[in-house]
Amino acid sequence: MIHNEQYPQPDEAKAVFSRELLAWYQAGNRNLPWRKSRDPYRVWVSEIMLQQTRVDTVIPYYLKFMDRFPTVKALAEAPEEDVLKRWEGLGYYSRARNLQAGARQVMELYGGVVPDDTEAVAGLKGVGPYTKGAIMSIAFNRPEPAVDGNVMRVLSRYFCLEDDIAKPSTRTGIEKLAVSLIPEGAAGDFNQALMELGALVCTPKSPGCLTCPVMSHCAGRIAGKENELPVKTKAKPPKPQIRLGALIAGTGEHAGKVLVRQRPDSGLLARMWELPHVLLEEDGAAADKPRGRRAKTPAAPGVRASHGRRAGSQAEPDLEERAADARELRRLMSAETGLIVSARSWLAVHEHTFSHLHWTVKVYLAELGESGRIWSVPLAAAESAAAYSAAPGRGGGENGGKPGSIDRGGDSGSDISISELSISAGNEAGGGKPRLGSIGGEFAVGETRGASAVGESGGASEGLAPTAGAADKLPPGYRWIGPEQMRELAFPNLFAKILNDYWDEAD
Ligand code: SF4
Repeated sequence: MIHNEQYPQPDEAKAVFSRELLAWYQAGNRNLPWRKSRDPYRVWVSEIMLQQTRVDTVIPYYLKFMDRFPTVKALAEAPEEDVLKRWEGLGYYSRARNLQAGARQVMELYGGVVPDDTEAVAGLKGVGPYTKGAIMSIAFNRPEPAVDGNVMRVLSRYFCLEDDIAKPSTRTGIEKLAVSLIPEGAAGDFNQALMELGALVCTPKSPGCLTCPVMSHCAGRIAGKENELPVKTKAKPPKPQIRLGALIAGTGEHAGKVLVRQRPDSGLLARMWELPHVLLEEDGAAADKPRGRRAKTPAAPGVRASHGRRAGSQAEPDLEERAADARELRRLMSAETGLIVSARSWLAVHEHTFSHLHWTVKVYLAELGESGRIWSVPLAAAESAAAYSAAPGRGGGENGGKPGSIDRGGDSGSDISISELSISAGNEAGGGKPRLGSIGGEFAVGETRGASAVGESGGASEGLAPTAGAADKLPPGYRWIGPEQMRELAFPNLFAKILNDYWDEAD
């Protein structure tokens, strides 16, 4: 038995753990597709897919992925778009890109064969200490530790370790302890047994101590601390962002299609496809206020701050908020892309949490260009708002001398009154799904002020793309697609769901 200075444990407790756990696993374990072979490529793919993802979610993805990319060579030579498409829905898409980059390394450096060499495997793209340990132990039976959150939980409980497992020093100590537990010649089975115990018995919220194969010597259970361990400091919560998304329906030659765009080559969701969207608020503050309106202006009587909702709330926006969103969507999209986007109706709100961000995306059905009939702005109120905006030292002066512009409801100080006149039941009562037949004329605009009220907030009309032919002049990375292209392009779950719902409704 190897001595571990950081976590010295009684030899008997260690011996019981190793022996009983291995016997339990070998007596019967889950019939998982990646356990049918010890092929290192298959182990590698399964371990990457299982990161942050439940076993039952992974199984169908794994089977389809191995069907399409049965060898390192097949994966290395595939177009990245194809790999991302097979990964669509699993999330954490950098895993797929790194896996393919690793497969290309194996082709170039090792002739397409994953090497039985710890350092070489550790050098593959996307392979961290846990994955390296899993590949080396399961595929090659090397005594390498494979320590993830599950294993840290099990060992913290069994040995009653009270150090914070979020600290790297604790992980290092537990890795050394885990190595010292591996029975000779049984590294693969033992590491899988540890993972199995964490997944099925020593679970995060309710450890099943009564059926646990190692309960007799479990120090955490004996101390009555099985529910308190492991100790883990909470990670910083993801930063909330509110985004405005546009499902832009094509017209004319693009009828039946929607406008999508590809994300940049690096960063979050790199190179995946999505609906156009803009950042409205971050951490509860407007991300980009209209030019000249940085200072918060108190709301005038009768005007509610329309963007006060926090990320995490999935309630639908009220009418004032929709109108403000439409203006901001128009302003921000034109500033970022040059496209004129006219929101036509409310569609849905979707939430998605990344490791460091929480997105609330408010999605509007929209068209390109000045479709003109969007929001109702009674003329008197619009004129009043225009006068308010144009007043020296208030809207007009601060807006760069653009009289007639109307700011966001919440911050403008105007008493503008906005109402939707005619809303399809399909959109409002039906859970936000669009009815294609009711796209036109859902909202009516005050004839005199409609375009400027909606489109020129903060003087953003300067430099906008011309209305005529706007649908033909797309920024780089944008394209029109129909449902058939959904089968070729990789979308993150969030946008795939919105688009699939949209086309399902259209059928
Ligand atoms: S006895 Fe309970 S706490 Fe200890 S390892 Fe087993 S399930 Fe976990």
